[in-house]
Amino acid sequence: MKKISILFAVIFLFAACHNAQVKNINQQEKKNVILVIADGTGPHLMGHLMEYARLAPSSPYKDKKSNLEKMLNEGKNGIVLNYTAESIVTDSAAAATQFATGAKTYPEALGVNAEGKKVNSVLYNAKQKGLATGVLTDVYVLDATPAAFYAHQLNRKLRDGIIEDMTVTQPDLVLGGGLDYFVSKTDLENKKYADILARVPYISEVKGQAKQDDNLTKVINSGYKLAFTKQEMNSLNDGKILGLFAPVYLPPYPPADWQGPNLLDMTKKAISVLSKNDKGFFLLVEAGFIDWVAHENAPQTVLRELLEFDETLAYIKNFADKNKNTLVIVTADHDTGGFGMAYYKPTKGSENDYNAFEKFSKLDSGKSFVYEVEQKYKALPEDKKNSDTIKKIFKEDLGYKENLDFLDGINDLKKAFKTYWEKQGVFWATKKHTNAPLFVVFYGDNSAIKDNVFHNTDLFKIMNNYLKNK
Ligand SMILES: [Zn+2]
Repeated sequence: MKKISILFAVIFLFAACHNAQVKNINQQEKKNVILVIADGTGPHLMGHLMEYARLAPSSPYKDKKSNLEKMLNEGKNGIVLNYTAESIVTDSAAAATQFATGAKTYPEALGVNAEGKKVNSVLYNAKQKGLATGVLTDVYVLDATPAAFYAHQLNRKLRDGIIEDMTVTQPDLVLGGGLDYFVSKTDLENKKYADILARVPYISEVKGQAKQDDNLTKVINSGYKLAFTKQEMNSLNDGKILGLFAPVYLPPYPPADWQGPNLLDMTKKAISVLSKNDKGFFLLVEAGFIDWVAHENAPQTVLRELLEFDETLAYIKNFADKNKNTLVIVTADHDTGGFGMAYYKPTKGSENDYNAFEKFSKLDSGKSFVYEVEQKYKALPEDKKNSDTIKKIFKEDLGYKENLDFLDGINDLKKAFKTYWEKQGVFWATKKHTNAPLFVVFYGDNSAIKDNVFHNTDLFKIMNNYLKNK
């Protein structure tokens, strides 16, 4: 009896050791890369987020530290230059193509090199090796940053082609906005997808901007399951998932009846689905709307978006802390706007003492972002375009609560915005992209990182080598 017990004990021990070994090997082999792109977020804006967290009297951070600052402190840092094959200043498509594929290219190009030839992305390579793959964004899923990882088009505007490419590359998970580009006017008129579109809570806003018909058929036939709400997204746990939660972008100020997820919800879902793969995963997380509102030079919405990006970083940081074989890279594709606050000698209560940060957060009560306000003003009859109307719009649509009499006599909305923000000490160099060098942080499993100055094509090599060295 004793002998049998010993035998069992030996067998048990052997099995336990063997299992532990197998588990160990699996864990060593499993590798994850999470690339976080804060679109349009140059060093001024990243600095703005960190200063806001430290200095704003009503900072939402108890320890006065943004998650970006924590990651910069604990990770390895550097700067990224982002010139293209043809220009000093890049657009999102060329930048994304360069860090997704390692090939230099020309502005507006997507997943092709400077000669227009198709180049494979880190997502494609990861998929070939059997890893799970995903892209998610708070703008539309066919937009340049996510699309550079799965599409090959000579121009970023060839959206029907981008959809076709999605069905070929087939990332496991594609989440964001953009249903408007998946259906055409004819599709809508013919009620082709009546059953499916009956599930879309925002269907009344869908105009049907796709140039070709039948895009949804292609997507469904290629195996994607569709989700139009957070609830639908959370009910899908495997297979190919395409989440389209808004006509184009996820709203910065969601209406009360909003049923979609936010950036953090999508990130949580993506990580929970993709991390089931034994070999690991590649995930792109894009905080895309920062760029859109930086183009509008709208600092209060920019701050709101930066805070949402930073909230998402907390979740990703925590995942990397618990899952050691994870490399997280946080950076931007380019700077948008050349944001800055200008010096003048502060007096108590003046515009650039720390209370200035309060203005950004208090002004975050706006219902619209600047683009929508500009469209509204443009549509007014000429005799309504005056400073009284502008003041009314600033108060009602944007939540600017203070006395706005300094805008009297200004009929031009763009000039009114500039005057308003300059009074707050805020200046923008441009409404376009700039060539500012970008912050990058390598967090988690970053032992292979030796340099501090990078070109964005180096990021592809780093991610690709990391996933290759299994
Ligand atoms: Zn961009």
